[in-house]
Amino acid sequence: MTNTTYFPIDKLKESETPLYYYDLHLLDETLQAVKEASSYPNFHVHYAVKANSNPEILQRIAAAGLGADTVSLGEIKAAVTAGFPAPKIVFAGVGKTDEEIITGLQYGIGCFNVESKEELGIIEELAASLGIKAPVALRVNPEIDAHTHHYITTGLAENKFGISMTMLEETVDKCVKSEHLDFRGFHFHIGSQITDLTPYKILCERINVLQEQFKDIEIPLINVGGGLGIDYDNPEKNPIPDFKTYFEIFHDHLKLRPGQQVHFELGRAIVAQCGSLITKVVYVKEGIGKKFVIVDGGMTALIRPALYQAHHKIENITSSSEIEEKYDVVGPICESSDVFGTDEVLPITKRGDLLALRSAGAYGEIMASGYNCRPLPGSVFSR
Ligand SMILES: *Cc1c(COP(=O)(O)O)cnc(C)c1O
Repeated sequence: MTNTTYFPIDKLKESETPLYYYDLHLLDETLQAVKEASSYPNFHVHYAVKANSNPEILQRIAAAGLGADTVSLGEIKAAVTAGFPAPKIVFAGVGKTDEEIITGLQYGIGCFNVESKEELGIIEELAASLGIKAPVALRVNPEIDAHTHHYITTGLAENKFGISMTMLEETVDKCVKSEHLDFRGFHFHIGSQITDLTPYKILCERINVLQEQFKDIEIPLINVGGGLGIDYDNPEKNPIPDFKTYFEIFHDHLKLRPGQQVHFELGRAIVAQCGSLITKVVYVKEGIGKKFVIVDGGMTALIRPALYQAHHKIENITSSSEIEEKYDVVGPICESSDVFGTDEVLPITKRGDLLALRSAGAYGEIMASGYNCRPLPGSVFSR
């Protein structure tokens, strides 16, 4: 029932909760699996820093040889500090400021993934003022439904991301004619936590059509974004996502030109399973026909359940009871959405027990906030 073999219980008991526990051995295994599955000569994987920018994690990913996909100057700096070479850093986001663009240019980052023709105009101007050429890829909105939660689908016409198909021709034309823009190719990202891989096949077909449409233009790279999902229900059974099938889809379905590079931007699939939120039971409260387990880490430590109605597997890692009961597991924050789970089956749980919320390595620690003046969670690593 309890999972004392996986977690370093003594170390966790001594540490201040809530905290994130990272299994670095699993991270290394995951990175190895990514590298093996993507080992086609023209495939390059960039880690989406926004999933988790804990320095220890970033350094390991940089050391494994991946590039970095960033969405702010802060992330670019974190990536550089962690050891990612600037040419292997790409920069996306709908609201890049002048300062972010200038600094990115000065660092010599590999590519700006441009989200609008307005942004393209500003990048051109700023590159001209520095007397250089900015490497740009145009983010195309392919209008594909990724069949994921509507807050994390990004490839539909109604989303704020990317350049619509109707405006693409004039935008490509502007790039190609500019003295200060170096057109690198097209960028796509259709959503996150994608577990049915069919949308990726549709994406490949859209890309093939687009390549036909722009057959007279040189397109050095195609960036297919990220979004590969993980198994939140069974972290023990599926600790490492099926990278092989994922990369094979692109290998089998994309009609690439000779020498054309394919870039991938995986975040969640790389870091989610190696992290757990460890939180302590403050009270077990008797409600009407219900028992509440109130823990010390709520939506300020892990916001995904409150933000996306996500569910993380919950384990009591210190109870030695063989008897199970149903509990609603809730945080201490003054918001009704501060709920980690309802009718969770746990061994008899008492004040002081430690719970682990599994698969919390992505969009967990990085999204923690100081709401209610709570301190940010710390982190503990396996060695
Ligand atoms: C968030 C994001 C990613 C990573 O998404 P995951 O679902 O974590 O793989 C990749 N590319 C872009 C442009 C993103 O915004």
